[in-house]
Amino acid sequence: MADRMLDLMLKLDAARGISGYEEAVAELMHAELAPLSDEQTSDPLGNHYFTKRGAKGAPVLMLCAHMDEIGFLVQHIEDEGFVRLAGVGYHDDRMLTDQVLEVEGADGPVIGVVGTKPAHVISAEEAGKAIPLREMFLDLGTSDRAATEALGVRVGDPVTFSRTGMQLNGTRVFTGKSVDDRAGCAVMIETMRRLSERKKIKATVVAVASVMEEVGLRGAGPAAFRVQPDVAIALDVTLAGDTPATEFRQLPIKLGGGPAIKYFDWAPAALIGSAVPRRLTRRLEEAAEKAKVPFQREVLIGGATDAGSIALAGAGTLTGCVSIPSRHIHSAVGVVHLGDMEQCVDLLLSFAELLPLE
Ligand SMILES: [Zn+2]
Repeated sequence: MADRMLDLMLKLDAARGISGYEEAVAELMHAELAPLSDEQTSDPLGNHYFTKRGAKGAPVLMLCAHMDEIGFLVQHIEDEGFVRLAGVGYHDDRMLTDQVLEVEGADGPVIGVVGTKPAHVISAEEAGKAIPLREMFLDLGTSDRAATEALGVRVGDPVTFSRTGMQLNGTRVFTGKSVDDRAGCAVMIETMRRLSERKKIKATVVAVASVMEEVGLRGAGPAAFRVQPDVAIALDVTLAGDTPATEFRQLPIKLGGGPAIKYFDWAPAALIGSAVPRRLTRRLEEAAEKAKVPFQREVLIGGATDAGSIALAGAGTLTGCVSIPSRHIHSAVGVVHLGDMEQCVDLLLSFAELLPLE
């Protein structure tokens, strides 16, 4: 049996696109969404818009999934050929040692491995500490700067994790380097594909593939200003706390437990987040119940999504967020459940059917 969600994830996760350099992902989004929409456009930031026109005078629903993934940039090339990296997005340096990375050089991808001091020569104190990114380096196998440059590598080149996404052992669990937020992108594509099956949906739906979420929700605000929707829903992953590493009560979201309706989130360090109005969360709950989709309730401290900047764009936008539970977030081995993603699509279609809200 064809597994559309799996096929989409294999394609989308493989594309490289750190914040500000999302072109390859945008190309894929265009290939998938252009045949499903009546109008396509883009803006100078790199946001892409796909509009499926509804009935005349019907409300406008904006869906938004970010195309960018966390990654790195080449910041410096050492005389000995090693590459020093600048982090793009919120990294945990502990996730970076021993990884294989890919530099998008002028002549195509260049593979490197992240090196540090070997176990044999570290002190007891060093062994107990995370190694900061500034002490790590990428080894391309070259022995001087000229050799590294001859591979087409320059300061400013984007760098991503080099890892092929896969389904885990016949389960419906998918692991990839960029499930945050290619999972949201896949859900948005499937929602647009299935819109035409739902004759009761009168709304105009604008699917926005946004840029630069991981560096401060930068793309989605201007996108909302352009679209001026009646209601907007961000589609992003959220932290599942159902592993032995986490206290569940701190992150009470389960992988495979269905999509999560966001009530509140806040990233105190960045002073961003969203408080979703109750008149919107109630309708999202109603949509989930009508579609017989089990949903989880999400209150997250420590993170935010595009919903935060969409809500504040222009004169303000009624904005919510539907989340896909994810384990191992912001690492090379992010995990999502394809079943959660499918239920997310069902919830969104059911919600679109409820419009207008008042
Ligand atoms: Zn995200």
